[in-house]
Formats: sequence, structure tokens, C-alpha cells
Amino acid sequence: MGKQKGIAILGATGSIGTQALEVIEAHPDAFLVEVLTANNNADLLIEQALKFKPNVVVISNEVLYQKVFDVLDAEDIKVYAGHDALNQVVEMDTIDIVLTALVGFAGLKSTISAIDAGKTIALANKETLVVAGDIIAALAKEKRVAILPVDSEHSAIFQCLVGENANPIEKIYLTASGGPFRGKDIDFLSKVTKEQALKHPNWDMGAKITIDSATLMNKGLEMIEAKWLFDLSAKQIDVIVHPQSIIHSIVQFEDGSMKAQMGLPDMKLPIQYAFSFPNRLASDFPRFNFLDYPSFTFEKPDIETFRNLKLAFEAMEVGGNVPCVLNAANEIAVEAFLQDKIKFMEMPNVVENCLNKINFVAKPSLNDYVETDNETRIFAKEFVKSI
Ligand code: NDP
Repeated sequence: MGKQKGIAILGATGSIGTQALEVIEAHPDAFLVEVLTANNNADLLIEQALKFKPNVVVISNEVLYQKVFDVLDAEDIKVYAGHDALNQVVEMDTIDIVLTALVGFAGLKSTISAIDAGKTIALANKETLVVAGDIIAALAKEKRVAILPVDSEHSAIFQCLVGENANPIEKIYLTASGGPFRGKDIDFLSKVTKEQALKHPNWDMGAKITIDSATLMNKGLEMIEAKWLFDLSAKQIDVIVHPQSIIHSIVQFEDGSMKAQMGLPDMKLPIQYAFSFPNRLASDFPRFNFLDYPSFTFEKPDIETFRNLKLAFEAMEVGGNVPCVLNAANEIAVEAFLQDKIKFMEMPNVVENCLNKINFVAKPSLNDYVETDNETRIFAKEFVKSI
């Protein structure tokens, strides 16, 4: 075994962050926690820091700084606060891999700083690639930095591509569980509550991605994520509903051959693969049993009812700042739905109105993306108020 890889976890207190810590705990010879960050959950951050003894923690909400400092200073753990601190700590020499497990646009700047500093990125924060995939992909190429996908579908495709460097991809199929409302009609969906939407049939995830899975926006964001990760055109990306969530995605090559990656739904596996790549590490994750799943089924997604997926596909095709608009509008819509300000079926209306309203920029700079994000959020919030 070589030296331990130093890991920074941005968003350590979330669903991906806590599962990443379980992976690290199971492989203490392979990985070492260097940085942990949180937004509001100071108690859990303190608990994690006392257990894993990182060099540094960051609490983004500055009001909570003193509380964290009071406990961790005595343990010789450096404590920083504020959003800018995230961009600085990822540059530390002792970090090999930065796991981006923040939610939403908030992950963009720290991901750029980490790539600039030459760190391998284990990318969970798909919104970063949705917003500014062109800038991230170009920077990663320039800095020769690997972006290793953590999203289970993208990890599946990445695993299928090992050893296929010289072989072009004809097409990829992103599998989708269909979420908790698969097969439901508009009438049913117009009455669903956030409690129902927060219950995913196969995956236990943070609130935002769980709602995105229920509206199928998650699959839309994943299409755009795949475009940038694997350098694909819109017509090379397809979505197929596979309710069992055992096939995590499929690559089809030029000769028609298809490779799929399978396993029980468990995010620890793709997290561990991103950390250990190019190697695999032994695990005691539950194993798949064919006899428990006598049939796999597949369906076309219903994009007329789940309009977010259609809107995301259109945004991907048009490109420029449109996916950035889609993302910001969706973040506001999900937040409004979780605060009971709008209904389930009103979320796509927020997104569509923003897509129609915000000015198109064909080749946006980073600054253009930041401005587009700001403008969209302002417009989306006004629209939510008017509903
Ligand atoms: P959670 O909501 O569970 O966790 C988010 C984490 O980010 C928390 O640590 C939270 O801190 C922190 N955070 C949230 N907002 C900010 C902010 N503005 N600034 C700094 N830190 C912030 O999310 P998930 O773990 O579910 O998802 C993380 C990312 O991974 C998302 O992009 C999601 O799409 C992606 N993903 C998640 C999967 C899953 O199974 N959960 C699967 C595939 C992808 P705190 O809790 O302290 O407030």
C-alpha cells in the first residue's frame, strides 16, 4: 500500500459527505481526512472532526464559527469560517482529492479553485458542471486534473469506459428509477405533498436531490453532467427508466456492443471507486442476488407529465448560459416547494418562465455565469411570489 490519499470533503455533514466518511473509516490505510466543511450543522461537524482529526474544518455560516472554534482549537484543528474559506482550503498541499459534496451553485467556485490547485476532483456536486461545464472541462484539461464522477450513473459509465480509451462512444443510456411518482398523472401530481416527494423508493439522499428525483430534473441535470464529463453531444445521451435501480447506466460503442455496470443501490460504492481509482478496494457492501430480481424492466420517461426533463434536454441542446438559468430557477423552485410556497406541478413553471425571460449568452465567461445565476434567482423569486 502506498501513502494514504489526503481527502477534503466539501459538504461533510450531508448525505454524500457522511457516506464518504464511512468509506474512509473502513479504509484507514488508504485514506486520511484533511479537511471537513459544513454550512449550518456545527454539531455534526464538531463530532466528525473529533473522530477523524482533520487538519482543518470550515463552517460556512460565520455565526457558528465561535461554537466550532471553542471545541476544536484545543484539539489542534484549525477552524475557518465563511464561503471564501472553502476556495482557499482546497489548495492545501496535503490534499490529493477534493470531494465536492455541496449542493447547488455553491460548489462552483471551490471546484474551480481545487482544479486550479491541481487536485483530483471526486465530483458529486453535479450542479457545478450543469452551470459552467465548458469552463470546468477546459480548466481540468489545461491543468491535467482528473474529474472522477461520484454520481452513480456517471460512475457506471466511467467504469464501463476503463480500457476503452481508443474506442469512441456511440451513445450512453442514463438509467432512472422514475422516482416516487413514476406512472402518476398530472391530476395526482398536482396534489402531492413534500412529505410524499421526499420519499424516494431506492435511494436515501439529501432533500434537494430527492425532490429533483421526484420531478425528474435530477435526470435532466445528469444528462448535462454527462455531456461535459464524457465530451458527448446531446443526441448521444438517452434516458431509460429502470425502476429496480440495479443497472446504473450503459455505454453503447460503435460496433453496437453495450456495457452496463450493476450493483445494489449504495452510494458508498461510487464514492469509494472515485477515491481508490484506478484500483478497487475490498468492501463488505451487500452483494446483489439475481434471484431477488427475477426481472429487470425498462420504460420511456414520461416527459409530457415530468416537464422538467424535457426542459433540461432543451437547455442542454441550446447550451450557452441556458443550463445555468435552468439550474438557478430549479434551485429556487425546489426551495419554494420545500417551504410550501408552491405546489409540485408549479416547479416546472418556474423553470420554464425563467428560461423564457433571461437573456441568452452564447459563450459565457465565469462572470456571465455568476450574473446569469443572480438574475435568474431574482426573477424566479419574483415569479414564485406571483403564484
Ligand atoms: P445534502 O443536502 O445531504 O448535504 C449537503 C452538504 O453541503 C451539507 O454538508 C451542507 O451543510 C453543505 N452545504 C449546503 N449548502 C451549502 C452552501 N451554500 N455552502 C456550503 N456548504 C453547503 O446533499 P447531498 O449529500 O444529498 O448532495 C450533495 C451533492 O451530491 C448534490 O450536488 C447532489 O446532487 C449530489 N449527489 C447526491 C447523491 C446522494 O445520494 N445524496 C447522489 C448523487 C449525487 P450543512 O448540512 O452543514 O448545512
